[in-house]
Amino acid sequence: MRTLITGGAGFLGSHMCDRLIAEGHFVICMDNLITGNVDNIAHLFGNNSFRFIKHDVTEYIYVEGDVDFIIHFASPASPIDYLQLPIQTLKVGSLGTHKALGLAKAKKARFLLASTSECYGDPLVHPQSEDYWGNVNPVGPRGVYDEAKRFAEAMTMAYHRYHGIETRIVRIFNTYGPRMRLRDGRALPAFICQALREEELTVFGDGLQTRSFCYVSDLIEGVYRLLLSDESSPVNIGNPYEMTILDFAEKILNLTGSKSKITFEPLPEDDPKVRQPDITKARNSLRWEPEVSLDQGLRMTLEYFKERIKKNDKNTMEA
Ligand code: UDP
Repeated sequence: MRTLITGGAGFLGSHMCDRLIAEGHFVICMDNLITGNVDNIAHLFGNNSFRFIKHDVTEYIYVEGDVDFIIHFASPASPIDYLQLPIQTLKVGSLGTHKALGLAKAKKARFLLASTSECYGDPLVHPQSEDYWGNVNPVGPRGVYDEAKRFAEAMTMAYHRYHGIETRIVRIFNTYGPRMRLRDGRALPAFICQALREEELTVFGDGLQTRSFCYVSDLIEGVYRLLLSDESSPVNIGNPYEMTILDFAEKILNLTGSKSKITFEPLPEDDPKVRQPDITKARNSLRWEPEVSLDQGLRMTLEYFKERIKKNDKNTMEA
């Protein structure tokens, strides 16, 4: 099997590269490295089943030879990234998805789109099941990501219906684990770094908004099962264990044994008040559910962040 993965040098993309290589695929990893990082795939250079191509997928994509699967993961995905890269975010979700689908059509490849729980916006239905159409503000600051992904889903379904392409859509909920960036801006890296550096933990709003966090290995397992399934409508993959952001911050303080205090900062515009995946569909059609508990996942992630911070601080001192 030859598989192209766009955004393959990102947090989730690089874990997907590892999984596909372990399953015997030849992996072509494509990334323009604006939010991805070669450090995430450095261990794969020299592997005969791996090739890296630095390319922006909003431009025409050229790949030599057969391609069996295209996994379209490319996009800025953290709120601070898509606020800083609004046009790139819109372009990769629209033009990039179009290019990747065009390649899938030319190569007769199966196409998998990484979509998002952001399609549900600030949801009025809780938990969110796939048949909920969402509550998205198209002109708010988050609209660039939400609408790009909603367009990407519509484009994927159009290629499926009109061109008969085999397509899969995964709606990814908050995921965490090794290879997240220290300064990615999301709650988990922010809180862990702040706790380890004995800085104040920045909880936005009153912290009563909720999220549900899925460990990366569970997410990758779900996506891999979806890829091999015959489910062409969207499937939520995430962990239904829901908690408030304030409880989450306290959990990180307990886990790290940090003496940091919590400080409250303004809530970003259109920040969803609740989020929890309904995973009935994944349970029934993929026989999938998460296996890693939050405590287990956080311990593994903490080890990674400790190493990264040590390396980072050493580099800063040497520089
Ligand atoms: N958040 C926070 N402090 C931070 C970063 C994020 O309180 O330093 C909040 C954010 O407002 C949101 C939740 O934590 O309500 C999860 O944010 P994240 O950026 O991880 O992802 P989102 O789920 O919003 O896409």
